[in-house]
Amino acid sequence: MHRLLIHRSYECPKWMEYLFVWLGVLVGMAGPIGMMLQHDLRDWAQRQSKCHDYLLHGSGIIKDGWWQLNCDLTLKHPPEFTIESEVASDKFYQFIEKTWMWQQLVVAVPLYWLGGLSWLVWGVSVRIVISVGGHWLIGYFAHNKGERTWKVEGAAVQGHNIRIAGFLSMGEAWHNNHHAYPGSAMLGLYKDEPDPGWWVLNALRNLGVVKNIRLPKQLPVRSELVAEAGNLDHRVERVPEDCEIAKFIMRDN
Ligand SMILES: [Zn+2]
Ligand SMILES: [Zn+2]
Repeated sequence: MHRLLIHRSYECPKWMEYLFVWLGVLVGMAGPIGMMLQHDLRDWAQRQSKCHDYLLHGSGIIKDGWWQLNCDLTLKHPPEFTIESEVASDKFYQFIEKTWMWQQLVVAVPLYWLGGLSWLVWGVSVRIVISVGGHWLIGYFAHNKGERTWKVEGAAVQGHNIRIAGFLSMGEAWHNNHHAYPGSAMLGLYKDEPDPGWWVLNALRNLGVVKNIRLPKQLPVRSELVAEAGNLDHRVERVPEDCEIAKFIMRDN
């Protein structure tokens, strides 16, 4: 959802795009268009020289948790974002946007049928609390504490890499890298930065399903981007590699 619909960092068949976006909606934060608008506003605000604490996770952890999980920020003069018509006029996305909360029924009903109330509670309610709460918590630290490889000069806030959450977040916690290269499909840019989201994309690329993956080297050079870490020469960059699983699946072709 994030690397595909929001950043268009790779291309895949439409059915796969719909599947990935639907799975993203199941996290329980918003519909696809709602998520795009939230992300666009935050991205835009964080690139300005000054920005409201709400949009940069700039308050203490208790206040920020209360804000992010319970409140909305209403701007007097909000910036206008236009969702590309490819998404805005897509019947599937319009339907999911209208019914995003109801989409939980697609998993809730089978869970209840298979395991009763306890499966329903763990599989829907607890999962949503952990996912939404975890998304906020990683977002909080990713804008406050943690390693930094790059600095985006002039930005109101820097992203930080949260090593402890790199694997668990499917690679999304390499947020310093994301601030540096928002359009990159790879978020764990060095071999010591596990990025399961990238592993999946790389396997699908090897299978020929995912195409036109964009990596930092293909993105326009940003003059405001400066390397902060002094050890980059000693670190091993991750590159698209052959995938053994994909090779095994394709062995007869
Ligand atoms: Zn950020
Ligand atoms: Zn992003």
